[in-house]
Amino acid sequence: MRNMPAVLVVEDEPAIAELVAVNLRHNGFRTTWAMDSASAQREIDAGVPDLILLDWMLPGESGLVLAKRWRTHPRTKDVPIIMLTARGDESDRVAGLDAGADDYIAKPFSTKELLARVRAVLRRRAPEPVGESVKVGELMLDPATHRVTFGAQPLKLGPTEFKLLHFMMGSAERVHSRANLLDKVWGDHVYIEERTVDVHVKRLREAMAGAGCMIETVRGAGYRLTARPESVVTQSEKAGA
Ligand code: CA
Repeated sequence: MRNMPAVLVVEDEPAIAELVAVNLRHNGFRTTWAMDSASAQREIDAGVPDLILLDWMLPGESGLVLAKRWRTHPRTKDVPIIMLTARGDESDRVAGLDAGADDYIAKPFSTKELLARVRAVLRRRAPEPVGESVKVGELMLDPATHRVTFGAQPLKLGPTEFKLLHFMMGSAERVHSRANLLDKVWGDHVYIEERTVDVHVKRLREAMAGAGCMIETVRGAGYRLTARPESVVTQSEKAGA
């Protein structure tokens, strides 16, 4: 059935693979098992899964090498990867994520945790529901009609600027790091530089014209959308003083 997500389990230890597969199946997933890199590649050539659970230490090519390769292939670059491994060091975790893994689970793990992470990663990759319109100060965004207005003035935004503004309006007043924005707006940021965020923020500010100052640069931290831009607050507070 198409609505049962397919998970490819790449794991050389049969006991672990079996445990993972049984639990996934009981929870509505289809699973296939590959015990080394060559058979994993064959499975992928036969059909792209919805998610890959990838053991780090494999005979032959390591999970890290496989993750890097799948990330660069057009067929597999969007498939979420969760690394499974006994290596739990911070540096290993970073290496796994740098290789393109979406998440990382250290062995031994509970099957409950595994399922939660599998679901979270799939949810993150799923297209966002259209949702309701959001309003911050005079700024209004309607995802259904793709319209943005500031007061009575309509604003014309590109698709990325629209998505960026939508996300920032949904969490107004909060500061977002560039990495967080890449993760939330671009989805998979492995091959996108953080500088890209600055480029789109600049474009967004320009497109927002008078409302552009609502997006504040928070030095050393990132960006924030606020209904009370500091430049304006300062002026009105000065006026009130
Ligand atoms: Ca292993």
